[in-house]
Amino acid sequence: MAPVRDLYEILGVGRDATDDEIRRAYRVLAREHHPDVSGDPAAEERFKEIAGAYEILSDPDKRARYDTFGAANGPAGAGFADLSEIFEMFFGGSGIGGFGTTRRRGARGRARRGEDLAVRLHISFGDAAFGLRRDVQIERLTVCETCLGNGAQPGTAPIACRTCGGIGEVQSARRSVFGTLMTSAPCSTCDGTGQEIPDKCETCFGSGRVRMPADVALEIPAGVSDGMELRVSGSGHAGVAGGPAGDLYVHLEVEPSDSFERRSQDLYAVLDITITQATLGADVTVPGLEGHETIHVEPGTPSGTVVRLKGKGVPNLQRRGRGDLFVTLHVVTPTDLSKQERKLLQQLAELRGEAKTAEATLRRPEY
Ligand SMILES: [Zn+2]
Ligand SMILES: [Zn+2]
Repeated sequence: MAPVRDLYEILGVGRDATDDEIRRAYRVLAREHHPDVSGDPAAEERFKEIAGAYEILSDPDKRARYDTFGAANGPAGAGFADLSEIFEMFFGGSGIGGFGTTRRRGARGRARRGEDLAVRLHISFGDAAFGLRRDVQIERLTVCETCLGNGAQPGTAPIACRTCGGIGEVQSARRSVFGTLMTSAPCSTCDGTGQEIPDKCETCFGSGRVRMPADVALEIPAGVSDGMELRVSGSGHAGVAGGPAGDLYVHLEVEPSDSFERRSQDLYAVLDITITQATLGADVTVPGLEGHETIHVEPGTPSGTVVRLKGKGVPNLQRRGRGDLFVTLHVVTPTDLSKQERKLLQQLAELRGEAKTAEATLRRPEY
């Protein structure tokens, strides 16, 4: 553990230093110890200390808190175990982020969550039923590798905005009939971020982020349907100044099937059967959602009969089990009879006493 050091000591200023003195001390030290400039392997640690000390001491509120509670050798002597504990108190746990890829927080108030991103994904009917893993290619704003997201040219660092003193707001007093009104508005110089970047990074032009292609691995669960949206948290645009990344929303477009109509987890289909299959009975094998299914046609099946194949529908997204497959049997009357077939059918009609000219009665339909 690093020995506890006083934040004023880190910046080499006295406890009574003015804001200006603190800012100047920080700028000199930051240039000297920025890891991209300094060859010293300890520079990164040192730079983090400097940046952390500056973040606290340049903020009047934080400085006051630090003066009261924070200094190990200071008046209150709160006795922190190490510097990171002090930083943790001020930066809410994530500390002054490391360099490179991981957590990193910029000046107060500057950290902002990345924007959400949305893509459409076209998947097949079968993939929607059984789920799939798929990589989607997206373009998203990623933390700039040149400046590591702070927007400043390597060797330089953002400074507290000179217009608002780093607060991000400008206050103005206005006299009115009610007395003096204090109003505050976001600082227009720094856009409310409290920071100014004197030397902007040439890669990202100071934004701290660059647009990059990326592959995102998606796990699409079984049983999704057309129009559903999946959220992949943290796969959207990178945050600003160490803020968390946004989310990626994947809008699913499921291709319709030629064989099935889907209603929730159940599937509906029609099977054409011949008059002899309907009359004599048959076992008809068809491609199902998954492998082949055999549909048993009872002898004497009327057209419109529905056969239910239990558990041959779509898996349930939420719970176990699957929907059913309902097949409506449709008896097709042949129109392309050969001479011989026609003769056989005529013989059948004669055997059954079914004359071409006949009398019969109507019956009321049943629904
Ligand atoms: Zn950059
Ligand atoms: Zn400002």
